[in-house]
Amino acid sequence: MSSESVIPGLKELIGSDNVITDPEELYTYSFTAYAVVREEPMAIVKVKSTEEVSKVLKFAYEHGIPVVPRGSGTSVIGSSTPSKGSIVIDLRPMRGIKVDVANGVVEAEAGAYVDEVDKECRKYGFMFPVDPASAESATVGGALAMDAGGMRGARYGTMRHVTLGIEVVLPDGQVLALGAPVYKQATGYDLMHLFIGSEGTLGIITRGWFKIVPAPKSVGRVVAYFDNVEDAARGVYELRRRGFTPLILEFMDDIVVKLANKIKGLNFPEKNMVIVDIDAPKDVLNNLLNEVAGVLKASGAADVKFTTDPDEMAKLYAVRKQAYPTFAAAFPFSFMGDLSVPLSALPVIVKKIREVSAKYDVTIGLIGHAGDGNLHPLVGLQSKDEWWTKARPALIEIEGTSIELGGSISGEHGVGIERKDLLLKELKAKNAERVLEIMKGIKKLIDPKGIMNPGKIFD
Ligand SMILES: Cc1cc2nc3c(=O)[nH]c(=O)nc-3n(C[C@H](O)[C@H](O)[C@H](O)COP(=O)(O)OP(=O)(O)OC[C@H]3O[C@@H](n4cnc5c(N)ncnc54)[C@H](O)[C@@H]3O)c2cc1C
Repeated sequence: MSSESVIPGLKELIGSDNVITDPEELYTYSFTAYAVVREEPMAIVKVKSTEEVSKVLKFAYEHGIPVVPRGSGTSVIGSSTPSKGSIVIDLRPMRGIKVDVANGVVEAEAGAYVDEVDKECRKYGFMFPVDPASAESATVGGALAMDAGGMRGARYGTMRHVTLGIEVVLPDGQVLALGAPVYKQATGYDLMHLFIGSEGTLGIITRGWFKIVPAPKSVGRVVAYFDNVEDAARGVYELRRRGFTPLILEFMDDIVVKLANKIKGLNFPEKNMVIVDIDAPKDVLNNLLNEVAGVLKASGAADVKFTTDPDEMAKLYAVRKQAYPTFAAAFPFSFMGDLSVPLSALPVIVKKIREVSAKYDVTIGLIGHAGDGNLHPLVGLQSKDEWWTKARPALIEIEGTSIELGGSISGEHGVGIERKDLLLKELKAKNAERVLEIMKGIKKLIDPKGIMNPGKIFD
């Protein structure tokens, strides 16, 4: 349908101010954190309520117009990249947050930033369990649609592990509540979890109810520096094998540290790093930090430091915080990969990544929430052309190895546009290609006209 016939209808539905067709804005929305593909939408619609989402979807469904739900566009694999001729529905005006301490629940609208939800919970001595590195920009709706994880993944899992209920609008505009703000519910097929991680291909999530957890009162940070990258990975595994479930257990290799020192003016030992946060009552905290330091030393750390001083802790974390911005600043084109392996396979996969980096002559640094087996290869390129000749083949080989090791092509970033072929590869390796047919069947049942975020997860 042409924009001349769609735009007046949309404006009539939710007001002219909320329907944006200004070319500069359309250009801005064509960008996401995935730089490989870019497409301008037909229009951007800003929604303030579930009712407005419902009206817009009903209209789009009746006219067969593609719809791309959008939070902040921080998906690194193209999930929020507009489709040709689509309406982008921007949910960020929907920002309500309500903490219900008595029931251990927070309710948040889809456009609230994850970090805002966490800050609101902390006013009551609680916190939001999931903390993606992008929490200041990632929205609740985006995090749900991607099943986002983060630093505290080894302890609390991903969005699907903390979500109790969601409100969704189906492609035809019907509003459904799935799950409920209670800690237990056993009522047949679990449709809520079907929508979590569905990357906007089944409907629009307008709000969610989540478990909250007490904010830790005393925390200490251990930082270990390793000469050998495999030893650092082994250190992570050794901690988990001994039953430690730290608040965070992050990994970063010497390639990232060296670059961050150079680009961001930091002064860290140029070695592979493991960062561990332990929360415990004050009287046992130091003993635990000592134990963690001992395990990391025994795994080959050249130097280990720990502190409970908040300023010192922040200083020790600065290099991890700068990892992604460093790559973005150091190279004309960069890409963040994602993989998940069993914890025991961490040393094997980091070795493989070094080999692949040499084979394709491409810079690959490594960061990751390694405590849950999740790593992000950071690829730095001199030009976008190198994406096709070097980076993508290198990443395909790395992801192939994570499948062989019993892992997955994605721990938290999803499939989007970028990983459709890799999803198929993973399913084939598991002898589970039928899964894709089942997914397509579900899509057809819920979205028979195929208007929701076309071209993502599968064609
Ligand atoms: C520097 C950096 C660090 C990152 N760190 C992490 C990390 O630690 N952990 C992690 O998991 N991810 C991380 N990411 C990836 C990304 O930030 C997350 O996937 C995030 O949850 C996306 O949120 P968003 O609001 O930007 O969603 P968008 O990118 O706008 O959308 C993502 C997907 O969700 C859909 N969507 C958005 N809102 C809705 C809705 N209300 N209903 C239905 N579908 C919707 C979109 O259509 C799209 O498919 C990182 C990205 C960057 C750039």
